[in-house]
Amino acid sequence: MARIYGILGDIHANIDALQVVLDDAREQGVTDWICTGDVVGYNACPSDCIRVVRELNAPVVCGNHDYYVAYEQNLADFHPAAAQAVLWTREHISADDLEWLRALPMSRPVMGMTLVHATLDMPDHWGYIFDDLQATSHFVYQKTPLCFHGHTHVPVVYEKTAFGAMHHDPHTFEDGVFKVQLGKQYFVNVGSVGQPRDGDPRASYVVFDSGARTLRFRRLAYDVAAAQAKDREAGLPARCADRLEKGT
Ligand code: ZN
Repeated sequence: MARIYGILGDIHANIDALQVVLDDAREQGVTDWICTGDVVGYNACPSDCIRVVRELNAPVVCGNHDYYVAYEQNLADFHPAAAQAVLWTREHISADDLEWLRALPMSRPVMGMTLVHATLDMPDHWGYIFDDLQATSHFVYQKTPLCFHGHTHVPVVYEKTAFGAMHHDPHTFEDGVFKVQLGKQYFVNVGSVGQPRDGDPRASYVVFDSGARTLRFRRLAYDVAAAQAKDREAGLPARCADRLEKGT
């Protein structure tokens, strides 16, 4: 039976953006939810976002911020503002939230598809896929026709071809729709709900209709000022709030 999946990730504790995305997804007829990780980090509402994602009953994979909040690891690889937000998050979630984050797998199969936060080529090394060459190494490990990911906060579709990976930019899709062809393999970045970085501050997620075989890239304006006010009130680094209005 055809299902309509709402695929979202990099929510980053931004409840204002998450609620707008969920309302839109319900209007789009979404029946099933999938989450590509980084539910927490950067912004002020980690517990609210964990609660909402848990209520969706979505399969979720672990993002790097989820991981560093869950485990007291060295934060030397993090930007100072991101590291500060990880430390803040550790102090502002419950023991139950922490336990939930610790149980998240690095990758997982979902109904003939695969989920990972960064890349199947060593998921816990948190590599960033920014070009066709990097996507080509990922495809060595992808066995399913579709694999969904996030991490860069930039929505994009990589298609496996005989000559390596080839990217498709969602800004060029008519009505945001990309048609998935049978027999091909795609590595799909769904963008970020709570901190987009492609210069467009609107929340990003994808609707996959398994019957029509379409990926619909959605962008939603939300109350950025409300999210920024929460970050500032929480005492998070100024950079966390500032970047939300720029989409960087
Ligand atoms: Zn992220």
